[in-house]
Amino acid sequence: MSVNKDHEGKNEPVGTRKIRLICALLLVLLAACAAPTPLPSSPPPLFTSSPLPLFTSSPFPSPTPTLTPTPTPVPLPARTRYTLDALVDYDAHTAAVTETILYPNHTGGPLADLVLAAFPNLWPGCFQMTSLTVNGQPPAAHQLQGQQLTVTLAAPLPSEETVELVIVYTLDLPRTAWGNEEIIRNLIFGYTGKQMNLLDWYPFVVPYVPGQGWLLHRPGNYGEHLVYDPADFDVTVRFPVLAQAPVAAAPAEGEPVPGGTRYRLDRARTFALSFSPDFIALRVASNDIIIQSYCFSDDATGGQLALQTAAQAVQVYSEKFAPYPHPVLTIVQGDFIPSMEYDGLVFVGHTFYHYVNGTPRDYLIVLTAHEVAHQWWFALVGSDQAMEPWLDEALATYSERIFYEAIYPDDVDWWQETRITRREPLSGWADTTIYDLNRSYTEAVYLRGAEFLGGLRARVGDEAFFAFLQDYATTFSHRRASADDFFRLLRLHTDADISDIIGAYFSHPH
Ligand SMILES: [Zn+2]
Repeated sequence: MSVNKDHEGKNEPVGTRKIRLICALLLVLLAACAAPTPLPSSPPPLFTSSPLPLFTSSPFPSPTPTLTPTPTPVPLPARTRYTLDALVDYDAHTAAVTETILYPNHTGGPLADLVLAAFPNLWPGCFQMTSLTVNGQPPAAHQLQGQQLTVTLAAPLPSEETVELVIVYTLDLPRTAWGNEEIIRNLIFGYTGKQMNLLDWYPFVVPYVPGQGWLLHRPGNYGEHLVYDPADFDVTVRFPVLAQAPVAAAPAEGEPVPGGTRYRLDRARTFALSFSPDFIALRVASNDIIIQSYCFSDDATGGQLALQTAAQAVQVYSEKFAPYPHPVLTIVQGDFIPSMEYDGLVFVGHTFYHYVNGTPRDYLIVLTAHEVAHQWWFALVGSDQAMEPWLDEALATYSERIFYEAIYPDDVDWWQETRITRREPLSGWADTTIYDLNRSYTEAVYLRGAEFLGGLRARVGDEAFFAFLQDYATTFSHRRASADDFFRLLRLHTDADISDIIGAYFSHPH
């Protein structure tokens, strides 16, 4: 669901905004000067906590140089910071979480409210919020409806200032819905008999699109619906009894803290965690990047193949697209059929861990190469997964072929035949959304999308095609790209007429 809010001042000229900002700063100064007001729970965003931020402590000019240091402005965070402290009870399938969100308003205008996605609240009884504060005070109002948590601020948050939210909540996790034929979406949030997965498990501020509003789509029948801005994460996971804690798979290296482990991950769209007492962890270092593979103890052969494939894929994609942006990449064997990407951590469904055949013609290799590709087409280059799912899924599918060309060139034809040709004739538009009632969603978005990219490459040539992919990955690193961005950038790399290819695969012109 896209929530459109008409925000005051969104179209005002820059000069007016500057005047408003100066007025706001003066108000902060005046408030600070009006001692003895109590100190706010967090310092005023742009200044140090000195009550007289811009001046020395004397109200009059001093004849001699003062020793009081000149306060330096506290830099505004580039991204939202999420600090999560979670007490995880694996056996009870619960978590008690304290979440602190430091949100910098980079939207270019004041914000009267914040919209957060509280994904766990899609499950009745799962998400219980016990406390919510804004800068240490209760919010002016808040509303939790389905997955949407709207927090109304006591006063609009000016552009380029921060607000701090603290949310205390508990999760009573559902059993994963995969296998329930009445629910056809790939719902892997929750627990199984031997795994617990915390996915989109904390409320997060959804992207704000100037002129349109907050970007929060409703869930669809297929695919993923959430859209994420990159953020910085500081996550501590504790257990009631550390000695009995399950093995934890995370997208970052952990450091021990009393009762658990602390993880930090910057510039990431998500922070997913998976736990199992039955995990074994395999690791390899590749070009200063640690690749980890967590699999169940009786699937070590598959876990090893996933590890090797992921390490190779990181190397191939780093060279072809852009360097992998994190120190760690974690592959997790899901205790379910689907595979799913998160930033720095991907799930590969368990099925093909059981059937490793010892050759390159192995679906575990295909799936792992696909999920790792999402680190570029989803995580590094973000997109609207609900409305333009081809942008990450077609590119991830076609990246499987790029992986095979680099690592197993003798098996590229097998990949083409298995993945594409034997399913022909394919149907559906590549730019299908997750809401189009289309039973062949995967065929349209993934396979027709990959076919489109193959046709595009044949038309423009390898040099232009790969130069474009590299430019696309670099230009939109840590940003969100649209289909229009994709084609605009593509046309900078080729003069070839591609209108017939676009017409064959896309319902909308580009
Ligand atoms: Zn995918």
